[in-house]
Amino acid sequence: MLNESLNMNLSEKINHLITTLPELKWDISEIRKKQTSSDFHWFSPILKQQLAHVQVDAVVCPKNIEELKTLIRHAVHDQIPLTVRGGGTGNYGQSLPLHGGIVIDFTAFNQILSFDQSNAVVHTQAGIRLKVLEDYCIEQGYELRCKPSTFKIATLGGFFAGGFGGIGSINYGPLNAIGNILSLRLLTIEEQPKIIELNALQAAEYAHSYGTTGIVLDFHLSLAPHLNWHECVLTFPKFAQAFQCAEMIANDPALGKKEIAVFSSGIERYYDHLKAYIQPGDATILSIIEHKYLNTLQCIVEKFQGKICFQQTSQQAEQSKFSILDYCWNHATLAVLKHDKNFTYLQTAYSIGSELSQLERITEKCGSDQIIQHVEMIRNAHGQVACSGLPILAYQNPQQLQQIMKYHEEAGVRINDPHTIYVADGHHSKQLNPNIIIYKQQNDPHHLLNIGKLSSSI
Ligand SMILES: Cc1cc2nc3c(=O)[nH]c(=O)nc-3n(C[C@H](O)[C@H](O)[C@H](O)COP(=O)(O)OP(=O)(O)OC[C@H]3O[C@@H](n4cnc5c(N)ncnc54)[C@H](O)[C@@H]3O)c2cc1C
Repeated sequence: MLNESLNMNLSEKINHLITTLPELKWDISEIRKKQTSSDFHWFSPILKQQLAHVQVDAVVCPKNIEELKTLIRHAVHDQIPLTVRGGGTGNYGQSLPLHGGIVIDFTAFNQILSFDQSNAVVHTQAGIRLKVLEDYCIEQGYELRCKPSTFKIATLGGFFAGGFGGIGSINYGPLNAIGNILSLRLLTIEEQPKIIELNALQAAEYAHSYGTTGIVLDFHLSLAPHLNWHECVLTFPKFAQAFQCAEMIANDPALGKKEIAVFSSGIERYYDHLKAYIQPGDATILSIIEHKYLNTLQCIVEKFQGKICFQQTSQQAEQSKFSILDYCWNHATLAVLKHDKNFTYLQTAYSIGSELSQLERITEKCGSDQIIQHVEMIRNAHGQVACSGLPILAYQNPQQLQQIMKYHEEAGVRINDPHTIYVADGHHSKQLNPNIIIYKQQNDPHHLLNIGKLSSSI
């Protein structure tokens, strides 16, 4: 049976596989193929053009490990490319199969396997949506240590393989900071797929490799206590005041918080739910602090000539269906793009201690009508408070984008380029961790998993 497919082209092989494995849940409808041939790479005008040709041949949604192993065995034999997809919210075309083939919809792997209340650890399958996971944890008194602003749709596996950090990273760093993930299990892409267990240090190395090094099955995740959170929008006449205020809140070791984002003026035009509260021309902070620090926050904000212009409890946010999380991280870029498609963004990392001068220098170079500064306060993987930037740019053409990147580099700002499909080029070093190449070789020796994403040659 297996040998019948040897002389077929890719499309014939896939059709053959669909008839060979009718027990699997396949979807070859045009609508589903079109949907899975895209993600949120269109935030980048460069990637939008580059990935326009991508065409998924078939989507399959395995229900359990046995089905997944069967699929892999056949795909390896027939040399069919496989690409895993979680929520499909990636920004760099991570879940798009550059060479066609089968997309594995992983969202049926959505079970919470166990919960260790006394140690605040959850064991969960990788295809679970982060909101579903967090809602469950909240019932037990805990919450996720960090989550992307796409948490309602994104899966844990997709966040691990395609993302970085987000809400909560001001306390716990990016997802791959050692200790957030205690262990994980992944499945190799071989004639006889193997389950490999990775410890915390190994897991950290596999993060953000775009699902090229194995299919993650499940995680043991360490959780944070669920606290009484309060959302506050702060405004300031000047960007420097907003930045310094954000820095003070971020650095304070005692003031409980889980989100601090600073924006230069201009963003208020795109914040439909908040524009009535923000004076045009003001700089803004979106923050989430522990409710008991509201008065303390008021004092801090006044110190920097700012004011709290909007606030709500997290319960009010839940009821009103509007949360400031809808405007932080790359949801800020999305809010702008909803109004005007002629914008794009960058991902930047500033030098600790020189952030404000770097930001001001770049705004001056670009022109304040060309760039909206957006800085997320985080703890980096070394525990330092750092600024992760997502500046929003009025896009003209590729040369202008390069010029803006050059302004950043000249100011000493590192760029993690969101306009490339390659893991290597997306990192400011333009290099891959050499171990990733070894893991790829070991776990996917036939090079079938999300082909062509590590670098232009792998
Ligand atoms: C508006 C917006 C806001 C965003 N905000 C943030 C943010 O705050 N922080 C952040 O880090 N990112 C952010 N992102 C990027 C993205 O949403 C996140 O990285 C998200 O976590 C991806 O999850 P997903 O399930 O949608 O992954 P997908 O897009 O489906 O997949 C991402 C990658 O993971 C791989 N993958 C998925 N599941 C598995 C698995 N089980 N095993 C192996 N590989 C797997 C895929 O092959 C792909 O390479 C944002 C994107 C948008 C559009």
